[in-house]
Amino acid sequence: MDIYKAPPAGREIACNRTMNMRSIKAIGYDMDYTLIHYRSEAWEERAYAHIKKSMLERGWPVEDFEYDQNLIMRGLIIDIELGNIIKTNRFGYVKQAFHGTKPIPHQELQKIYSRTLVDLSDRRYKFLNTLFSLSEGCFFAQLVDGLDSGKIDGAVGYPKLHQVIGKALDHAHTEGTLKQDILSDPANFVVLDKETPLALLDQKKAGKKLLLITNSEWNYTAPVMSYAFDQFLPDGMVWQDLFDVTIVSSRKPSFFADPNPVFEIINDEGMLKPAIGGLKEGGKYLGGNAHMVEKLWGFDGEEILYVGDHIFADVRESKKVLRWRTALILRELETEMVALENFKEKQSTLNKLMRKKEELEYQYDQVRLAIQRKKEKYGPIIQQGLKELYGEQDKLKRESMALDKEIVPLAKESNRLMSDKWGLMMRAGNDKSNLARQIEEYADIYMSRVSNFLFKTPNAYLRSTRSSLPHDFYLG
Ligand SMILES: [Mg+2]
Repeated sequence: MDIYKAPPAGREIACNRTMNMRSIKAIGYDMDYTLIHYRSEAWEERAYAHIKKSMLERGWPVEDFEYDQNLIMRGLIIDIELGNIIKTNRFGYVKQAFHGTKPIPHQELQKIYSRTLVDLSDRRYKFLNTLFSLSEGCFFAQLVDGLDSGKIDGAVGYPKLHQVIGKALDHAHTEGTLKQDILSDPANFVVLDKETPLALLDQKKAGKKLLLITNSEWNYTAPVMSYAFDQFLPDGMVWQDLFDVTIVSSRKPSFFADPNPVFEIINDEGMLKPAIGGLKEGGKYLGGNAHMVEKLWGFDGEEILYVGDHIFADVRESKKVLRWRTALILRELETEMVALENFKEKQSTLNKLMRKKEELEYQYDQVRLAIQRKKEKYGPIIQQGLKELYGEQDKLKRESMALDKEIVPLAKESNRLMSDKWGLMMRAGNDKSNLARQIEEYADIYMSRVSNFLFKTPNAYLRSTRSSLPHDFYLG
């Protein structure tokens, strides 16, 4: 193999705050959508089917409803009160919105949201922050259409629709029906990645302690980990040998903040006994808390890295409460980065055209001001006569209109990268999206998959990039 192989497109590690992997002594991993990637469309279709079944039982006419992955993406927000799906920028200004499944035109959007700053702690909003929330968003949008058209009757409002979806999903989760579906046919749901076990093995052999900390229960975790890992590990090794400590049913985010009790799992069936004296190396546990992890090896927050896909439950809490180092996994980032790479040349053309447009606008404004001063007879003496100035103004206007004809199709294409409806996940127009803002604050690094660590090795020095500021006029 080529030992200097560069990562494929989209597999880089993005860095918000510099992190020396050499000084990381323990790495904790979440499981679902972190170590294990699911075919999100297959999983969400199944979750959607459970919601649909529950609606039909209520007598709601949703027979024709079908899951549509294109309606929704991670990082969008449900406005429960108004029946809208919205995308905001980093300050909480709404930049795009759909009412149900229909786009809200820009002018109308401004009327609805001009005085609204979206605060995610407000119960009016539901942040779709993981790949598990896509079916919920899709069903909500379609039910809003159903309610508006009178298909769903009774005095129900949009909040009621959301509440009913939430109940149906909770039911599917608590009954374990969804996870049973996955276990009975893992090949249909789990995306295998032989590089993930290798990346973890590299870290372990480099002397780092590895932990699995998942909210999934033992009787789901064990078979799924075994299916996705064992076949790619060296002979005689199984997934459990990779982890110095395994914790299931961890109740994150509470795991990071509260003194939850811990039980030891003493056999493969998941039988429990009280874990007196806390965690021990090589143990498997249910529950527990982050303080126990710190105590086990005496590591402090700077020496522990936690890797997860949930911006709140995995990354925000471990950062806010414990100051652990944090990594966020976002599989779609790969698609986003490849889309940006493929659009690179057009983007550069678009940037050049925009600079030209700014130059023309500058000239137009100067001429306009010169006309004003000439007519009102004040300010510095202007050589050109009014007729000449008007002629110049017309010429600039024609040039600007011709330029717009080149810009508009490219700008439209740029706004549709990644998703026809919503554009890029990490951007809201030219600004950062709300999701990007959360990631910036809580995730020290972020990447599309755990196996991207392979290319950076367990000893890499991950440097944050110098971020741009609006007044960086003179930088190359
Ligand atoms: Mg997860």
